Amino acid sequence: MVLLNPGPVNVSERVRQALLHPDICHRESEFTALLHRIQSKLLKAFVPGAESEYVAVVMTGSGTATVEAALMSSLPHGRRMLILNNGVYGERMSQIIGLHRLGVSELKYEWTARPDPDKLLLALRQHQEVHAVAMVHHETTTGLLNPVQEVAEIVDNQNRVFVLDAVSALAGETIDIARSHIYMVVGTAGKCIQGFPGVSFVLVRKGFVEKMRAYPKRSWYLHLPHYIDNEGRGTIPFTPAVQVYYAFDEALSELLEEGVANRIQRYKQMAAVIRDRMAKLGVKAVLPPDRQSNTITAYYLPEGVSYQSLHDRLKTQGYVIYAGQGNLENKIFRVANMGALTAAQFAGFLDAFEQACKPV
Ligand SMILES: *Cc1c(COP(=O)(O)O)cnc(C)c1O
Repeated sequence: MVLLNPGPVNVSERVRQALLHPDICHRESEFTALLHRIQSKLLKAFVPGAESEYVAVVMTGSGTATVEAALMSSLPHGRRMLILNNGVYGERMSQIIGLHRLGVSELKYEWTARPDPDKLLLALRQHQEVHAVAMVHHETTTGLLNPVQEVAEIVDNQNRVFVLDAVSALAGETIDIARSHIYMVVGTAGKCIQGFPGVSFVLVRKGFVEKMRAYPKRSWYLHLPHYIDNEGRGTIPFTPAVQVYYAFDEALSELLEEGVANRIQRYKQMAAVIRDRMAKLGVKAVLPPDRQSNTITAYYLPEGVSYQSLHDRLKTQGYVIYAGQGNLENKIFRVANMGALTAAQFAGFLDAFEQACKPV
């Protein structure tokens, strides 16, 4: 099955085979070595040249687990989080903070609009109680790219903490985490890194680690300093999904061999192929090109075609597309181009799509 959903993605045979390494105990030196390999590869891939300024915290759980851990671990008593919300994942961050009864403020936007950096600057000047700002890098809801660099600059200049959900962006979009002084960046194995779902991570700026230790512990499983202390000693507080870590390690090797910039370029080219053909077919994209990411395109459903019938017809041909979420559920469909897929597979999909749009 060719997966054109934004994770889990198709992985290479090499990554799949890595699941079959021998059983090990996570309290033994073999696991310590595996964890260290993953951490050093993460730093090499995402903060090249500044590896010593960040720690890579790895945990078992899907991306949301680590987003929640990052959010809950970054607020001192009595201070607030400001969320830039322009999609399902920004909304989710707001709900997480609200659920834990931590103070949340929002700058809320249409799902097709980008947050306005000037408004953020104004809000931060006016609201000293805001301690941290959280934003999604690539809003998977619509495939919208948010202005990370501008926002990072403002947050840094205003001496606040920036928590970035880059779960669907890392290895798919260009970002200079270290130069932008971003304190926390969350990612996952099962999207553009081309590993399996079940393990995710956060890159934390070292200077912030000490501060975080003084903040209240709000969760047993999701308290980041707990992981950082354990991982500093080469261990992990809870039983990890060991086999998934093996595959993650292999996927990171694959990424470093391909090169992060080359991976991004490959995705960009695949997206261009999809977008050119869809434009020729008259299928209308939800976003203008300057807001689109390299790895997802959201389209309005062609006239007279329901999502379910389009989905089902494509699935019988071996292609899985993705529905819209929230109020876009019955209006759009999404095509992701993450994963170990070839140009021939995308060409096959586009032919099948053209057929599937014809009346039965
Ligand atoms: C996929 C994704 C997540 C995490 O989703 P999980 O289902 O928990 O892996 C978080 N944020 C964004 C922007 C995502 O695309």
